Amino acid sequence: MERRERYLSDFEAKKWIIEIGKRMYAKNFVAANDGNISVRTGPNAIWATPTGVSKGFMTPDMLVKLDLNGKVLSGKNRPSSEIKMHLRVYKENPEARAVVHAHPVVATSYAIAGISLERALSSEAVVLLGKVPVAPYATPGTEEVAESIAPYCRDYNAVLLANHGALTWGRDPQEAYFRMESLEHYALMSLYTGEVLKKVNELSCSQVSNLLEIRERMGIRGGGTPSCRPDELAGGDSAWAEALRTGTAGTDSPRTDGLRMDAPRTDAAREDAGRVAAPRAEAEKQAVIEEIIAKVTEEVLRRLS
Ligand SMILES: [Zn+2]
Repeated sequence: MERRERYLSDFEAKKWIIEIGKRMYAKNFVAANDGNISVRTGPNAIWATPTGVSKGFMTPDMLVKLDLNGKVLSGKNRPSSEIKMHLRVYKENPEARAVVHAHPVVATSYAIAGISLERALSSEAVVLLGKVPVAPYATPGTEEVAESIAPYCRDYNAVLLANHGALTWGRDPQEAYFRMESLEHYALMSLYTGEVLKKVNELSCSQVSNLLEIRERMGIRGGGTPSCRPDELAGGDSAWAEALRTGTAGTDSPRTDGLRMDAPRTDAAREDAGRVAAPRAEAEKQAVIEEIIAKVTEEVLRRLS
């Protein structure tokens, strides 16, 4: 974690911004000149993307250096008007060393629908991202956008901007950018399971609590606790099977407003889920949990290496 204990140099910051811009554009997270990226290089300094350029075609000389009040310190271009929300993240969360803003299609669709991403669907999403709330709409480029995201900057790793896009931050540029990738991935899984397959088997609460321990060991403080399936309804428990059969599964698990994906909705899906929920030995459950933990740990170590 040594890389997180120091500020990046101007050279490193600019290199990261250009690389992230290219990847963001190639992955269709932005169209035309959309999006912006910043990296903190000191207690009162950031490098940021300029206004009016495509993030896929930037060169280092286009970037702008600013202080945390938004005053330009060097660079020939004007900074993006959306830089206000970046500055707010750095002010609210001293741990943040990079901020990425984009309009990825699936995550932005959730933002447009006003649906937050809060369910424990996959181990990676729980560990690397956590819950993603929706901040109320504000006109892009205005101070209101900064106000709208302020309450989420410390307790979360990402936020959806209603009818606009997504914002992620991290302890270094790679973490901030990977969170944007993870967010779009999470949104896509949510869309497929909830709206296409119409079947969602959430992780159980004890599985989620194991994942949160891993997250804590990685020093990730934000992300909250995603909603999970109560353990008494987990795996082979007959109550869960019964709940699936009667179609009441999932209705008593903790949810927040805006979530509307329920457990299996069709008779066929319920039958299917009933089969999945066949009685399972305790040891077998433990093995599944351990396998998930091993997979997440391996992936996390790979990303950190
Ligand atoms: Zn935007």
